[in-house]
Amino acid sequence: MQQPPRRYEILIKGGEVIDPSRNFRRNADVGVLDGKIAAIETEISADHGIDVIDARGLYVTPGLVDLHTHIHHGLSIGIEADPVAARSGTTTWVDAGTFAHTEIKGFRRFIVEPARCRIFGYVYLYPNNRNPDEDPVKYVSRAMDATGRAAVANRDIIIGVKFQIGSNMNGRYSLDFLKIARQLCDKYSLPMMAHISFAPPSTDEVMQLMRPGDVVTHCYNTHTIGILDGNGKIKASVLDARSRGVLFDVGHGSGSFNFEIARRALDAGFLPDSISTDVYNQNVNGPVHDMPTTMSKLLLLGMNLNDALKRSTINPARVVKRIEGLGTLTVGGPADIALLEIINGQFQLFDSQRKPLTTDKRLISRLTICRGKRLIAL
Ligand SMILES: [Zn+2]
Repeated sequence: MQQPPRRYEILIKGGEVIDPSRNFRRNADVGVLDGKIAAIETEISADHGIDVIDARGLYVTPGLVDLHTHIHHGLSIGIEADPVAARSGTTTWVDAGTFAHTEIKGFRRFIVEPARCRIFGYVYLYPNNRNPDEDPVKYVSRAMDATGRAAVANRDIIIGVKFQIGSNMNGRYSLDFLKIARQLCDKYSLPMMAHISFAPPSTDEVMQLMRPGDVVTHCYNTHTIGILDGNGKIKASVLDARSRGVLFDVGHGSGSFNFEIARRALDAGFLPDSISTDVYNQNVNGPVHDMPTTMSKLLLLGMNLNDALKRSTINPARVVKRIEGLGTLTVGGPADIALLEIINGQFQLFDSQRKPLTTDKRLISRLTICRGKRLIAL
């Protein structure tokens, strides 16, 4: 006797499916089974689904990928990812160096493994808990190999090395530190995520030391290491870095996203490669909140929805590069899905300087599905 076909565990009906990885945008139904996307078809009968979701009026997109977060909760500024994931459509979270190489074991055991969303991380080269009596350049040199070895040994969850560049972080040693970080990443074939803030070093010096696949985060900051020159034009060294394959990431955070800088950059055609929040305990309740809020700010400044989604799904997923099909909505790929909606009204959005701008539409998340299961805020 023939077995009846298995029903989809989740069936999403009537939404507008957008997958920027393959320029797919049309009304379709999506069937989920065994943690994977099992079908994307114009019409799938409701009796083929167990949990049938009415997605009329909603966008059905790949789960959002946030490349810059701080989610090693319990360590310094980290927040817990799952509750924010459930309300924001963000299924993949990358911790940008809340932890050093000595803390990778704990990151895996207590953060990555228990989470219902997907978590990866960049390991931080310069931990705050070093001995203050030790020469910092010597310390970083000594930490270099231990960091590189730990990153390689944990390659399944560690994407690369996070490093903060700026006189406010590392004082007069900043360029020396950056050169050590460069040496480390070259020796162990690891990409770097570089936080930029205050010169010295100069933007040109920083850009020269960036390689293809490295991510420069906080690209729309107001600081002296930044993408714009005194005339509001994109610096030549920044354009050169981009042409070599260096990636530029938003990394909103408490101090690094400015409406005016972002507007000028977008007007000059300098869109970010990835949109990310740099969310942590001091900004999760504002001004950052989450990915849809950050994306809403880019929409307000003139970016279109497809461009914003591309920079919040497939682009950062290509940096994560650990799971096939991540950041896409394709049959056979992971069932990481966001149900998003654009709502109309009067909303105030704030940049890192707490400057308000009013918008008549904002993007919100209605449901997050990760690994084929609904994420519910507990
Ligand atoms: Zn950060």
